[in-house]
Parts: sequence; C-alpha cells; structure tokens
Amino acid sequence: ALSLRGIAKSFGGNAILKGVDLDVEPGEFIALVGPSGCGKSTLLRILAGLEHADSGEIVLGGTDVSGVAAADRNIAMVFQSYALYPHLTASENIAVPLAMRRLTRVQRLPFIGSLIPGQRSTRRAIIRDVREMAVSLKIDHLLDRKPGQMSGGQRQRVALARAMVRRPSVFLMDEPLSNLDANLRVHARGEIVDLHRRAGVPTVYVTHDQAEALSMADRVAVMIGGQLLQLASPQVIYDDPSHVEVARFVGQPR
Ligand code: ATP
Ligand code: MG
Repeated sequence: ALSLRGIAKSFGGNAILKGVDLDVEPGEFIALVGPSGCGKSTLLRILAGLEHADSGEIVLGGTDVSGVAAADRNIAMVFQSYALYPHLTASENIAVPLAMRRLTRVQRLPFIGSLIPGQRSTRRAIIRDVREMAVSLKIDHLLDRKPGQMSGGQRQRVALARAMVRRPSVFLMDEPLSNLDANLRVHARGEIVDLHRRAGVPTVYVTHDQAEALSMADRVAVMIGGQLLQLASPQVIYDDPSHVEVARFVGQPR
C-alpha cells in the first residue's frame, strides 16, 4: 500500500535519515521505534508532506506522491500534542478536514472560523460523517464541548476522530498517547487497535513505549542512526535481533 524508497534528509549538514526503505502492507500496523533523535518524527513528517526529503520516493497506491502537497496526499497524522483548535467544538474540530477537502487550495488559506461552508446537502453529509465517527469512538456525547472542557483522553479521541473521518489511505501517529496517564494509555491502546482493525488503514505508529510496540503492532521497525536496521514481527525483533544495536535498544529497561 505504501512504499518508501531511499528516503534521505539532512539538517544543516547533519545526515538525519540515511536512505530509509519501508513497505507497509495493506491493513498493516507498524510500530516505529528507536532512540530519541534517530529521526522517527522527521520520517513521519516527510511521509505526511510536512517536510521534504532531500532524495527518495514515497509511493502510495502505485503513485509517487513525493511532490504532492500535504493536503492532497490523503495521509492522516496524529501528534503527541493533539493540536485541536481551542475555539472550536469537538464536532467542528472533527469536521475541519471534511470541510477543507471541499475547498480549493486558494480557498483554504483564509479558512478556519467560517467553518462548514457551502450547500446544505454538503453540511448534512459532513454532520453525518462526524457523528458516525464520534459514535464509533464513543465521544458522541462530547461533540458540543470545546477542548478546554475535555480530559486529555477525550481530547486524544477527538484528535483520532478528526484524523480518521476523511478515510485516509495511510494513518500516521507520533506518540499519540504520551500525554496520557498510565491507566488511560493502556485503555487507549486497545481503542486504537480496535479502530485500526475496523478501518483497516495501513498505520505507522511511533512510540517510546516498547510494551506498546510489542502489544499493538503486526511488525516493529527499529530505526537507529537514521537507518531502519530491522523490520520484523515483535517476536522476531525480541528473540532474534538482527544487529547488536537492535539487541541493545530492545533490551533496555524502560
Ligand atoms: P524523539 O524520540 O525524541 O521524538 P525522533 O526520533 O522523533 O526523536 P526527530 O525529531 O526526527 O527525532 O529528530 C531527528 C534529528 O533531527 C534530531 O537530532 C533533531 O534535532 C534534528 N531535527 C529535526 N528537525 C529539525 C529541524 N527542522 N532543523 C534542524 N534539525 C532538526
Ligand atoms: Mg519524535
């Protein structure tokens, strides 16, 4: 479904990504792990189109999307800080990507504020999609609240709903649970895995938490020093690490 070929990126003369190859199969959940600063977020930002690679290809459904703008890639991303719009309600926050999709690139610029523009049929379709998504994430009772009136776990679910509502072809998450307390984290893991099973969207999930990687992922990708050293099932990564660096990293107590 998604192929990365030789993705390279330097910042100020420092090579951060040194030719990353990765294939994500349809419906697959990949956990991307590695030491702090190894380039995980940079790789995700490049995939999402928020940053440009110096070289390499991103092939999505048979098309090279390297030159395609972020808004037109149909790749959704959820960050550690959920970045909800504080002045909008949950339902408006979830509607943003649906409303955006109906605008041209020029119209998008002065956007935000005049939410859900256009005809009533469009509005109705958007409201229906938002409600459906909210029900599936069990946040339909929160739709009229603003982010300041919700708990961290609730905000995190609104952010997931906002990312999933436009039915992306790829779903990227960069430590989406790291602001939650330990109990909520374990619960939210299960919800994300459920959502993934139902939607079947190929997912790359960055985490610091090895238990998370182990319990959630079909395959774990270990990135060290800007290279993917091993991509295998959690079992194989732990039982049969391919490099000393991988063994050292997965063997670290957390
Ligand atoms: P963490 O686990 O701590 O989130 P990470 O693996 O996500 O780390 P990145 O955020 O991808 O790491 O950063 C990789 C390296 O690139 C770091 O050394 C970082 O300082 C550097 N870097 C990232 N973005 C920029 C930027 N815009 N300009 C300069 N250097 C950058
Ligand atoms: Mg990061």
